[in-house]
Amino acid sequence: DLKGKTALVTGSNSGIGLGVARELAKAGINVVLNSFTDSQEDHELAHSIATEFGVEARYISADMSKADECRDLITRAGVCDILVNNAGIQYVAGIDEFPVDKWDAIIAINMSSAFHTTAAALPMMRKAGWGRVINIASAHGLTASPYKSAYVAAKHGVVGLTKVTALETAREAITANAICPGYVLTPLVEAQIPDTMKKYDMDRETVIREVLLERQPSKEFATVEQLGGTCLFLASDAAAQITGTTLSVDGGWTAL
Ligand code: NAD
Repeated sequence: DLKGKTALVTGSNSGIGLGVARELAKAGINVVLNSFTDSQEDHELAHSIATEFGVEARYISADMSKADECRDLITRAGVCDILVNNAGIQYVAGIDEFPVDKWDAIIAINMSSAFHTTAAALPMMRKAGWGRVINIASAHGLTASPYKSAYVAAKHGVVGLTKVTALETAREAITANAICPGYVLTPLVEAQIPDTMKKYDMDRETVIREVLLERQPSKEFATVEQLGGTCLFLASDAAAQITGTTLSVDGGWTAL
């Protein structure tokens, strides 16, 4: 029974992170929301989840591009039974034009943050005698696309980190897995549409159908609720022997 456990979801004031936090709260799990903005809306979001689902919900601000803030986030939460590393950003450009600051930010937020939060959370999980590390990687953790060098490198890195985390906790009641979503229509994907429209000289609908969903055989976006449900499954007893692996939620993308 997961009721009363606490899940910390990084980057959860929007998109997949928020959807995951809501699905976990729906199952009676207390949640800690995070982003770097620390706005009134962020705190209100936590409050509304607490009211809607009758769980404890808090918002803690921390910038996942900074090692010490990643580690402090876990310390400030005080408890972390289920760690969902979800914070992530995207930038699209050819390698020879890729801005170095964007490369550094993507590697820090999309990959290194998971190392820091995991390092801080594992002692808590060991003390509690139970834990779940769930890394939101991507189909781009298993395959590549042009113009996404930093993102693809970071997501492949996250898949590698997940395997090592699983091996180091294999004899304990702790599992570590990566979820690899295909395309989910969130603000992160929405933000790629204008650039892609320009790059390929296409209208919005054509970009969605022929570029974004080109490699997603289902021709449908995955939903944030489905990703929340996948996290819930990985947290459940049914998944206790699933560790060190990836679970694709990609409408068949990686079967191609
Ligand atoms: P999103 O832009 O809606 O959400 C990203 C979240 O990360 C936001 O809550 C934002 O506040 C947070 N964030 C960004 N920078 C941060 C920082 N420095 N510190 C703390 N928080 C920060 O995007 P999303 O689509 O929901 O993406 C969430 C995760 O899912 C990312 O890791 C992304 O790579 C992954 N993913 C998304 C898709 C997709 O199609 N949307 C597909 C595969 C993987």
